[in-house]
Amino acid sequence: MDRTSISLRCLGTGDAFGSGGRLNSCYHLKHTDGQMLIDCGSSSLIAMQRFKVIPAEIDTVVISHFHGDHFGGIPYLILEGQYASQRTRPLTLVGPAGLKQRVEAVCEALYPGMTSNKNSFPVKYLHLNPKKPLNVNAVQIESFHMKHGRHQSACGLRLSVAGKIISYTGDTEWTDRLIPLAHGSDLMISECYSYDNVVAGHLNYQTLLKNRMKLKCRKLVLTHLGPEMISRIDQLELDTVNDGELIEING
Ligand SMILES: [Zn+2]
Repeated sequence: MDRTSISLRCLGTGDAFGSGGRLNSCYHLKHTDGQMLIDCGSSSLIAMQRFKVIPAEIDTVVISHFHGDHFGGIPYLILEGQYASQRTRPLTLVGPAGLKQRVEAVCEALYPGMTSNKNSFPVKYLHLNPKKPLNVNAVQIESFHMKHGRHQSACGLRLSVAGKIISYTGDTEWTDRLIPLAHGSDLMISECYSYDNVVAGHLNYQTLLKNRMKLKCRKLVLTHLGPEMISRIDQLELDTVNDGELIEING
């Protein structure tokens, strides 16, 4: 692998409802110094097994917000390390404030006693702070407040690695903070739940088309596709991604 080349495999490009049989949000970022998951929705372990990503090799998981289709796969990732692969590689989990409590609560709900198991690998928790970028396992992570629900802090993510920038909206309706999130990125992954239906907390295709020129990214792909988008997938001007699709970002 060339030092400047990175790849991103889309492991889940669907909504929370499994529309079109698509898997929940998850993207596998591979670079010369590590492997990261961007979001880890409930179906992520299935997706990793299907698309030949080795769970025990993931060093970082960054979570945009606390909805199950974005972070519900974390208990299974930890469980796989405890029981299936006897993982030793440390795992860093990054997400909005309260991440550790949320993850542990979900682990205990799904597998009682799981958080008292003796791990063969350390799990470290770091919080996103829009005012302060983080440097985690060779990736710089910047976060931006998005607009998705009243009960949580949803973040857009801007990742810099090996001289490349990937931006990811997570789930959000339109906010002008998408403009700096996109600016100068090599790849922007944007949610696009519906085509022209206005759904609170989500973007639709018409809004993205109207604002496309404000998003100064080299490549834009649409994801988190709901039924309306899936039914029109062959008639769209903007690119969409599918489960399993690999995007190479070369120097
Ligand atoms: Zn979602």
